[in-house]
Amino acid sequence: MSSVAPVASPARPENAALRAAENHLAPVFAQYPLPIVAGEGIWLQTADGRRVLDLYGGHAVAALGYGHAGWTRALQAQAQTLNFQSNAVPLAVRERAAARLVRFSGLNFNSVFFVNSGAEANENALKMAFTITQRSEVVALEHGFHGRTAAAGALTWGAAGKWYGFPRPPFDVRFLARRELSALSAISERTAAVIVEPVQGVGGAFDLGAEYLGALRRRCDATGTVLIFDEVQCGMGRTGTPFAANLYGVQPDMITTAKALGNGFPCAALLMTPQVAKAVKLDALGTTFGGGPMACAVIEAVVEALESEHLLENVRRVSQYLREHCVVGPVSAIQGAGFLLGLICTRAAKDVHRALLERDIFTGTSGDARVVRLLPPFIMGEAEVDRLRAALLDIGA
Ligand code: PLP
Repeated sequence: MSSVAPVASPARPENAALRAAENHLAPVFAQYPLPIVAGEGIWLQTADGRRVLDLYGGHAVAALGYGHAGWTRALQAQAQTLNFQSNAVPLAVRERAAARLVRFSGLNFNSVFFVNSGAEANENALKMAFTITQRSEVVALEHGFHGRTAAAGALTWGAAGKWYGFPRPPFDVRFLARRELSALSAISERTAAVIVEPVQGVGGAFDLGAEYLGALRRRCDATGTVLIFDEVQCGMGRTGTPFAANLYGVQPDMITTAKALGNGFPCAALLMTPQVAKAVKLDALGTTFGGGPMACAVIEAVVEALESEHLLENVRRVSQYLREHCVVGPVSAIQGAGFLLGLICTRAAKDVHRALLERDIFTGTSGDARVVRLLPPFIMGEAEVDRLRAALLDIGA
């Protein structure tokens, strides 16, 4: 998932377990009382006839919203032409998607490895870092989230005490306090990689900022450490720039991205600089589904939509508008970047979340009990922000 989510669900987890037993689904998530049956644009339709404004986007996935014409056409056309072939054969659509993604990034990347999920992208990034450095320690940040697999979970703050599930981490892990410049000295010649979300998602839409990330880059350069930006949640335009790396002016050695990349079709990517790419040997990395034609057609369509519909400009403009107009009611401040925003509340985020849902606005919570997290589709406009503001005013301080 993405989230630690529903950290604070209006429905009790016991209900989820009960429902799951009835419907044969493993009870892995507490369930919001929102039986969604359809979506259009930024709106969700429920089975009981409600129209709900979606400011959560299915854990940051629905970047183009629901029923996007270009995305749907691309998926249909590719399904009719060639639904699957593996990485063992060259595919024009895969080459186009990689080239398009590299160009979109505007960063110093020349190689892409397509996989299926954010955690898988992170696992592969770490594998490259170990291969290059021959070291065995990884540094991550407190409150970071990197996924639920053995390596990604080992680097996820708090996972060990809650859900990690493996007997031990597969390498040495060290967590640093976020934005703490003095802590960077812990990165040493033993450190293979540092992995950070430039804007932490589950951590509460907490942006690390240009100064900290610049210092991190310099410390990694000084120690020969590989710098990985986990942009699974904050990448692909969510900050109003292609990646948060662009926003903060810091070039990492690798970026991992997923979620918005497919707008709901499961896919992820690992972007590598020429230096990292040189270390990729045949058979070192692999996947069956990653880079399949359907995923690649969708990735092309997503980038095309972001660019031709000027969605990054929209994210920047409407994000600013939201920050100016939504510090009202229970919201005392707003943090984050673009459309990864945290409404810092004067009371428990779960209560504000519930009150917004009662007013037909679907938001997210986070690992920070005071922060309501917004991850809206990039098509959100000022009118929807006005609706959020009215609801917050209605809820009151
Ligand atoms: N990294 C970040 C920053 C995430 O937010 C997530 C999921 O929420 C992941 C990694 C894991 O991605 P996935 O659930 O696709 O494996």
